[in-house]
Amino acid sequence: MELLTFINEHVHARHVTMLAASIGSIGLVLLLSGGLVKCVTWRSIRRYCPGPSPPWSRLSPFHWLWTGRCGYDLTGHLSSGRAAKDLVLICPECGRSLKKIKELQSCPRHVRWFALGGWFVLGTCLVISLHPVNRKRIVHLIPTIVLFHGEDLLESHWPNRLKGELRRRHSHDLLDQERSLAMIPFYVRDLRDDDVKFNADSARRRLFQFGQVALPALTLALGSDDWQQRQIAADVLRELDASPTSALLDVTLEGLRDDDLPRPRGQYRFTYCFNARSGTKYMLKHIDIAETYLRRGLASNDVQQRLLCASVLGRSGRHESMDKAMPILLEHLADNKQFKDAKLGIRAIEGFGDAALPWLMRYIDDRDTQRRDIARHLVCKRDPESLFEEGILLPPPDLRAYFTTIGQ
Ligand SMILES: [Zn+2]
Repeated sequence: MELLTFINEHVHARHVTMLAASIGSIGLVLLLSGGLVKCVTWRSIRRYCPGPSPPWSRLSPFHWLWTGRCGYDLTGHLSSGRAAKDLVLICPECGRSLKKIKELQSCPRHVRWFALGGWFVLGTCLVISLHPVNRKRIVHLIPTIVLFHGEDLLESHWPNRLKGELRRRHSHDLLDQERSLAMIPFYVRDLRDDDVKFNADSARRRLFQFGQVALPALTLALGSDDWQQRQIAADVLRELDASPTSALLDVTLEGLRDDDLPRPRGQYRFTYCFNARSGTKYMLKHIDIAETYLRRGLASNDVQQRLLCASVLGRSGRHESMDKAMPILLEHLADNKQFKDAKLGIRAIEGFGDAALPWLMRYIDDRDTQRRDIARHLVCKRDPESLFEEGILLPPPDLRAYFTTIGQ
């Protein structure tokens, strides 16, 4: 223990890390080359004498690295027709008598490189476990090319710690321009719904920073089988003001549903991707192309999607869709537990202008007080005469009361 305390106090962690990394690298090279030689000689037809080593020598640690084999080539002394059990052979070099063909070696080497490599790697693990080395330093020493091609080849099977290291190097501007751009597909892959926390969120930010060069990879992700990847890719594309392709509008329409972004129900995870909000803005901006998609959304089975589609169509004054949009909007004027839906409805109905008046007149005596007051308020703003005709002489109702009660 005193030796360990001495090492911990006097040997700098950096030096230990370097030492461990060097030994480990040599060990890995030996393991690989030893393994390669083993593969090559596995089916070798030549057989060599294992030498006069007594059986107990196999237990000696020395034997793990070095074999005292004689190495005399006995291939010519084997007769092909004989069965292994009948073999009786005496080595002319060292005089060892051999009874089984299994005892012969396929390689005349003395040093066991494969075993030596294994011991080096074990030694590295020992150094790391004995010294409080900052283990991250070991990861820091891995060449970028290894991290890069490893992740490229193994994708989701590549360790998360190594993935994180590559992203750390990118965020610290340690990658050259070419490598930096080649990170885009990795970030797009990070958008998938996986077990790693916050990786989609940080990938989203990175992709946004890449700007226009990320557009092709993001557009490709719109066709993904992973819902989260599709939605966040569409969100970044909208933020980057990509042109409204049919794939983007399809995914945007899908994102108007009441879904798990930005936060799944009952979970504390959070992604800064307000897909319904940004989708609504985008649809409003590109209403000419988006109109057919929004009309499709009016027939949706999702309440939020129906309302947002009707709201965008109303705010853009698309009278062709009024027949289907108005019933949805009027439904949301009623007093319910949904947040802000009446406010969205009011803005959309105002967007339809005077054409909405006949629809509103049906509700000026509605049983639902909130809907009745909103209808009266909207009619009063545009055409107060029609209310007098109906015998309603009230001043326009003050709607602020309704919105303060729901937290406005
Ligand atoms: Zn021999």
